[in-house]
Amino acid sequence: MALVMTGGLFGAAPNPFVKRGLYRFALAAQAPGGQPKRKWSSRTASNKLRCMEAAARLGPIASPPKFQLGDLTVRVLDGGSLWLDGGAMFGIIPKPIWSQRVEVDAQNRIPLATTCLFVETAGKRILIETGCGERLKYSEKEHGFFSFGHNWLLPSLEAAGIDRQTIDLVILTHLHFDHAGGATMSDGRGGFMPTFPRAKYVVQRGEWQDAIDGHAVMTGTYRRENLEPLERAGVLALADGDAEIAPGIRVRVLAGHTRHQQGVVLCGGGETIVQPADLMPTSAHVGLRFNMSYDLLPFENMVNKGNLLKEAEAGRWKLLLGQDPRHALWRIETDSGGRHVLRASVD
Ligand SMILES: [Zn+2]
Repeated sequence: MALVMTGGLFGAAPNPFVKRGLYRFALAAQAPGGQPKRKWSSRTASNKLRCMEAAARLGPIASPPKFQLGDLTVRVLDGGSLWLDGGAMFGIIPKPIWSQRVEVDAQNRIPLATTCLFVETAGKRILIETGCGERLKYSEKEHGFFSFGHNWLLPSLEAAGIDRQTIDLVILTHLHFDHAGGATMSDGRGGFMPTFPRAKYVVQRGEWQDAIDGHAVMTGTYRRENLEPLERAGVLALADGDAEIAPGIRVRVLAGHTRHQQGVVLCGGGETIVQPADLMPTSAHVGLRFNMSYDLLPFENMVNKGNLLKEAEAGRWKLLLGQDPRHALWRIETDSGGRHVLRASVD
């Protein structure tokens, strides 16, 4: 058995495990030689919801916490969790289709992780993405909307024994609050400061300008407390297009969700892993038209997603989907109908 997501235009084949609410069973069942450690004992609505919350809170629950990619040492970190409106997360796709692919709560919300990466290469310590950040950044109303989990990136780093003062670079795919929220933190005096004071923060120049101008369809997603402290501290490193950031780490502009969003490409040991940012936030977004209502350029998102999937399949790349609440790393295949299929990667 395997955790599988298929995509096409509207070709939404339901994931039987999701439909049955057996996240952990499905993931354990496809581990090499492994037997499921735990099977959910109840399928009542309340139990199912509790399990969904646990899955969202845990983030990349079925991913290796640390792996080697040639000279790159990569650690997968939980940057926190949140819930977003399911309709907004799937744009024009009708609920009877998208709700077969994901869990949905009584408020029509779906759980999302914010998976971050810590990479060591060539003597550099690099973070990719920072999640939603501290809970104190959000109002009571926002907590009601998003039901943020208790964790955020800094406690995850501390649990892994990583000192925030030792980070050299922070790569942000874009500056929406659920990606850049952990870039700054409370300074203890009512203000905010860069969470990683020695680091340069790498973001596309166009994305930074759009953030400053508030060029977004989601109200308040470019938050002042996530941006101003970076500018004030002079820690921004603005990129103009595709660029090599460190040996084995490149950024690549993947327009669609925002005009200047960048994906991150990790290469080492003959393997490639791509973090495509919100071009495809979860495995349920593999279908070409499974865009989000938050996308500034939905058509470009669809085209760029299709091209990336083809390229990734041809190159046998893996995808690291930062907001999938069940799994981080995915392999790509094509089914007999020509649709791309994602399979959870466990090696
Ligand atoms: Zn976004």
